[in-house]
Amino acid sequence: MSHHSERKFSKEIFNPFRWSKSRASTFTECKRKYYLRYYQHWGGWKEESPEINRLAYRLGKMVSMATLVGSAVHEVLARHFRGLQNDRFRELVPEQAVEIMRRVWMDARKELWRRNPKKFPPLFEIYYDRVPPVERLQAYADQARRAVAAVGETPLYKLARSLDRSDFLWVDPVRDTFSEEIFFSVPPFEAIFVPDLVLRAEGRILIVDWKTGKARDQDHLQMEAGAIWARQRLDTAGAEIQGVLAYLSPGLVDEFTITDQDCLRARRVIVSEMEAMSGYLKDPLKNIPLVKEAFPMHNNVKFCKYCEFQEICLTNSPSMLVSGSNLFN
Ligand code: SF4
Repeated sequence: MSHHSERKFSKEIFNPFRWSKSRASTFTECKRKYYLRYYQHWGGWKEESPEINRLAYRLGKMVSMATLVGSAVHEVLARHFRGLQNDRFRELVPEQAVEIMRRVWMDARKELWRRNPKKFPPLFEIYYDRVPPVERLQAYADQARRAVAAVGETPLYKLARSLDRSDFLWVDPVRDTFSEEIFFSVPPFEAIFVPDLVLRAEGRILIVDWKTGKARDQDHLQMEAGAIWARQRLDTAGAEIQGVLAYLSPGLVDEFTITDQDCLRARRVIVSEMEAMSGYLKDPLKNIPLVKEAFPMHNNVKFCKYCEFQEICLTNSPSMLVSGSNLFN
């Protein structure tokens, strides 16, 4: 067996323990959610897996209208920038984001997730029977349109249009092709960074992230992780790295230089977050977690109301189920 196929094989049997921004924030939000999303889901894509794994996998794929705005906008931008990279300029079409949202909505209505929750994710508002009024749905559609249109107004966009093909160092793949290129190392751990767009311009490397939601404290850490990734994965040749956080809803761009010092600090944060998560492992080598009960549930039931995993948690606790079902009807 070649070295290559050995690696492939080992990846299939082990659930990998890698830092990502979303893993760390899920761990902070709710330990039980972290358990369900990163452990209980394992194997849930297979017919023969236990029902609870299949359910955790399905719920882990769930989107909400708010996250759908984000993924639809990202998909439109990824296609568009891939076109620019290949010298095929087409206008930015904000309506395309709404078409994607509509398609996901229709597929969720038809419950296509029963067939394949990865390809056809369940939609929170439909799944838990909390469909918002039509004005609210229209507001989500407007938010998506405005976000795509906002990109066209940024100086970054004009810059991107003037660049050569070779200055596009990375454009987010449209479909989620999970490639090794998104891995980087923060010894003794492995980590993941998925950039939206990386450009080389005026001697600098720009790591761009499109945001449809509000600014969060961890956004800078995410970009610093991106800089560590870029130094390992791209030919940056010591060039200065800039983080570009494009908040599309208010139309603000936060652009900043990421120094080696920033990267060092980010490394320390990543290692300490991974160490905290390792504390919940029975077998750190194989990434086997402690029992479910070792991962406490959120102490505020109000938070659970907005959580995609409530079908599992609220059903397991009879008193919460009663209050839960009153709330949802
Ligand atoms: S329903 Fe509540 S306890 Fe369960 S995973 Fe979600 S937030 Fe945590």
